[in-house]
Amino acid sequence: MNYEIDFLPVGNGDKSGDAICLRWEENNAYKVMVIDGGTKESGEKIVAHIKEHYNTTKIDYVVNTHPDQDHASGLSIVLENLEIGELWIHRPWNYTKQIIDYFQDGRITEESLKRRLEKSFSYSKPLEDIANDKKITIKEPFQGKMIGIFEILSPSKQWYLYDLIPDFSKTPDKKEGMITEGFESLKEKVLAWIEESFDKETLKIDGTTSADNESSVILYTKIDDKGILFTGDAGSRALNKAYAFKEEISKDLNFIQVPHHGSRNNVNPDILDKILGNKGQEYNKTAVVSASETSTKHPRQSVINAFIRRGCEVTPTNGLVILFSSGNITREGWGKVEPLEFQKKFQE
Ligand SMILES: [Zn+2]
Repeated sequence: MNYEIDFLPVGNGDKSGDAICLRWEENNAYKVMVIDGGTKESGEKIVAHIKEHYNTTKIDYVVNTHPDQDHASGLSIVLENLEIGELWIHRPWNYTKQIIDYFQDGRITEESLKRRLEKSFSYSKPLEDIANDKKITIKEPFQGKMIGIFEILSPSKQWYLYDLIPDFSKTPDKKEGMITEGFESLKEKVLAWIEESFDKETLKIDGTTSADNESSVILYTKIDDKGILFTGDAGSRALNKAYAFKEEISKDLNFIQVPHHGSRNNVNPDILDKILGNKGQEYNKTAVVSASETSTKHPRQSVINAFIRRGCEVTPTNGLVILFSSGNITREGWGKVEPLEFQKKFQE
């Protein structure tokens, strides 16, 4: 089957983001999908890219993996400037009835909580407004649903509502004693020299990321018996849930998005073994990491090394559009990119 996956470059410095366009052939026509829109600037790039390379002004499915600025804000440009079939987005402000008991302040009412949430989700709420204005169908990306040929592996609705929303950085403080899975954010440490070998891995087992990131939509499909996995900014909790939901993702995986721009807090050796398989494989998978060219944090070399150990060729966006394709796709003037190398000594 012919398909193309394009990772567009987003941001600069330590601000990375995701802007992914893809299309696949279905019944002699193409279906087009956009996963996250990066910043406003990358939103403009997506619109131009779809017109130029996909030769259309229509996107069948727009997915916002989670409400952070570097993933959501560019989608407003996409929604406004192209014809959209469906918008897939989480709308936590619609669940105040279910979650009101999690919040401290007794004066909070369902209505006031809804208004607070609508205001604090300042990059994703406008997407709902534009979609309503343009009469675009809005759907909620929860585990088990299909978006075209892609199955949603995480988050489940239950986990999203009762564990993640109350822990979001954008929601009010939780009541004491209400138990959710919680997370601890790690303080950034000063850069240190790290030595690794092929057998010696330094990636921590207990890295954690925010509930906001863990709410990222994880998408999976198989094309021609080979798996494709998109991870947004998901961390090890969400990745474990995705794996528990569909263990077969580890079989014949062909393409994977390195989660959260290659942050070392989102993956650990255990979940990588589960999804990518054990260390010491021949190269049999492609991994793309969306990271700005000048970022000092993204991607981390320990993460790149971990993916390489498990049979991945890792390519960063680094200011370029990275195309992964199958079938008879040609683009004039486009060259091959070299994957990143395994490094034994690095600063992190
Ligand atoms: Zn991000």
